[in-house]
Amino acid sequence: MANSKYAYVRNFELPDPLLPGCYLICRLDGHSFHRFSEEHAFVKPNDERALKLIDHAAKDLMSEYKDIILAFGESDEFSFLLRKSTNLYNRRQAKILTTLTSYFTSCYVFHWPQYFPDTPLRYPPSFDGRIVLYPDERAIRDYFSWRQADTHINNLYNTVFWALVQQGGQTTTEAHATLRGTFSAQKHELLFQRFQVNYNEISARFKKGSVIVRELLNEPEDVTATLELEPVTTRGEETIRAPPKRKEKRKPKTTIEILHCDIIGDEFWQARPHLLA
Ligand code: ATP
Ligand code: ATP
Ligand code: MG
Ligand code: MG
Ligand code: MG
Ligand code: MG
Repeated sequence: MANSKYAYVRNFELPDPLLPGCYLICRLDGHSFHRFSEEHAFVKPNDERALKLIDHAAKDLMSEYKDIILAFGESDEFSFLLRKSTNLYNRRQAKILTTLTSYFTSCYVFHWPQYFPDTPLRYPPSFDGRIVLYPDERAIRDYFSWRQADTHINNLYNTVFWALVQQGGQTTTEAHATLRGTFSAQKHELLFQRFQVNYNEISARFKKGSVIVRELLNEPEDVTATLELEPVTTRGEETIRAPPKRKEKRKPKTTIEILHCDIIGDEFWQARPHLLA
């Protein structure tokens, strides 16, 4: 079939390689999740079941695609960082983006009943996706800082907004009006004075989002290194050294951990130099 008279149509498929040597970030975002969250009665402002479900899908994606070394999630979105040296699907953009988006979406649906046992899916959810290339470490740090700052801003707003609606008896329009033009400090104050909520005591998952990281496990020293020196024999003047053993290039063992920590400061990155290597 490969040489049929029809095969020329293949030539219309254009290559779409991603620039080598750049970090890849793939960001997925729930399509119309404002509606999806309402139709499936998500608790507002933060449905913990939904957050755990999307974390699970992200973790599954990282288990399947080893070149993803870090992920950050909030609300209905997740960003995945791929090693800058990744050669996944020969760096074909469409192949990478479509397989990641599709696998992630499948996992979200696959695990749905575990997190929402009493809420059957009313329709199939979907996610949009994009891949952005970043040239250096600074841009990657700033990218993740941007997303985590966004998490904080949205969560503070939503926390006060839903307190005004659920406990303060305001309509959603009134609550938006109450918050218009307020600064962060005023929102903290409003939460505390009217609703006795100390924002700092709210769950780290809500305030910081989810950081999923491939951690390197400390392994015992490589034993092949010492073995290499052993097989030396002498015959007369001659020293016969056995051919060096091919050093097995074992991949370092890793685990995937879900954290809810700060990634804007230096501490997280300094403890994990492998992430930006
Ligand atoms: P688009 O298709 O353009 O992304 P969208 O409706 O998904 O539109 P987003 O800006 O992505 O809009 O916002 C997602 C919305 O989904 C949030 O505003 C919130 O209402 C809802 N949502 C997502 N996750 C949760 C959650 N865990 N708990 C409560 N609500 C959530
Ligand atoms: P890739 O990920 O590159 O697409 P692939 O394994 O999916 O790899 P394809 O060329 O897409 O390779 O071929 C799909 C294969 O799936 C077929 O060769 C066949 O073995 C199997 N397959 C798909 N649909 C059916 C079906 N309805 N019945 C039996 N086998 C099927
Ligand atoms: Mg979107
Ligand atoms: Mg969305
Ligand atoms: Mg979103
Ligand atoms: Mg196929």
